[in-house]
Formats: sequence, structure tokens, C-alpha cells
Amino acid sequence: MLNFVIFGAPGSGKGTYSAKLKEIFQLEHISTGDVLRGEIRKGSDLGIVAKSYIDKGQLIPDELMIGILANVYDNLPAGSNGVILDGFPRTITQAEALAKMFDERNEKLTAVIDLEVSQDILLARLLRRAKLEGRADDNEETIKKRFEVYHTQTKPLADYFKEMGVLKSFYYTDELGPEGMVREIAEYIKSL
Ligand code: AMP
Repeated sequence: MLNFVIFGAPGSGKGTYSAKLKEIFQLEHISTGDVLRGEIRKGSDLGIVAKSYIDKGQLIPDELMIGILANVYDNLPAGSNGVILDGFPRTITQAEALAKMFDERNEKLTAVIDLEVSQDILLARLLRRAKLEGRADDNEETIKKRFEVYHTQTKPLADYFKEMGVLKSFYYTDELGPEGMVREIAEYIKSL
């Protein structure tokens, strides 16, 4: 099975590109943010806990998140081509747990698709999304906190994946645009 992680800052387009790649390569898409937002909508116990962190722009505790991810992964439709993990892992502890999870299932991480987007573009996109989608955590204060959390807790994972030899970076430019990015990522996946 193909096991991809899509990696990047808030607003880097992880959800958008995952949806395109899902379509092109018939992959499953697991967005931990979407899973949590679904729980919040249902008003489940997990949703209540998740909301208290998400609204502050903080990460949900690792132990909880690792359990959720393993559960969703183990319930993928049988015979799946592969999966894109979007929003997981976000800490070194989660990355180590993911490696263990793959090991236990005789799977391995195929590649990490790293989206590199300049800070100015990221901020503009998130503020636009706030207006269009009304996501509770897309307000200026929470966005600032999410960037801080990304830089301190998640970004160091890039070096971790680089050392593993699985990191593949894609650099967004206005010239390339989202379509160009999808094209480059798709070509890379085909070359694997
Ligand atoms: P996202 O939709 O990926 O931007 O996630 C929205 C929010 O959900 C994040 O700001 C976190 O509060 C929470 N979240 C999503 N994935 C994780 C994760 N892997 N670990 C911890 N918190 C997460």
C-alpha cells in the first residue's frame, strides 16, 4: 500500500492537494483536522475535548491523537490503493508512533510530500478561508498561535523525515499556481 504524509504549515494547501491526489490516484484521505471537526459536530466526548484545544490553536495531546489515527487507518476500506495522511504526524512523538504503527502492520511510509509556501501567502490564504468557510480557528489570534505551534512542534519533523530519506519538497510560486503544484506532485508519485 502507498502511505503518504502531506506536510506543511497551516494554509499550505494540504487539504486541497490531498483531494486532487485522492482523485488522480484513487487514494484514501485521512485528515485528522476533519476527523476532529466531525466529532465536534456530533457533540461526542472526544469532540468536546478536541474543541477546547482547537479553539486555542493548540495541539490535541499525542496519546489521544495517535489512538484516533490508528483507529481510522485500521478502518480504511479493504483493498485500498493507498492513503494520504493530512495533518498527522504533527510532533516527533506522533511520527515515532506512526513508524511503529506501520511496522506492526508490515507497512511503510512511502514518502512525505512537503509543501513549502511563503509566510505572506499562507497568512493571506488563511484570512481568506476565514471569510469563506468560517472555520472557528481561522481568526487572526488563533492563526498566530497555530503558526507558532507549527514552527516549534511540527516543522522540526522536516529534518526527521529528511534523515529518514522520505522527504520530498515542493515549492509554491504564484507562477506555478495550485495546478502546477498538483502536476509536479503527481509526476513525482508516478515516478515512484
Ligand atoms: P487542521 O485541519 O489539520 O489544520 O487541524 C485543525 C486543528 O486540529 C489543529 O490546529 C489542532 O488543534 C488539531 N489537530 C489536527 N491534527 C492534529 C494532530 N495530528 N495532533 C494534534 N492536534 C491536531
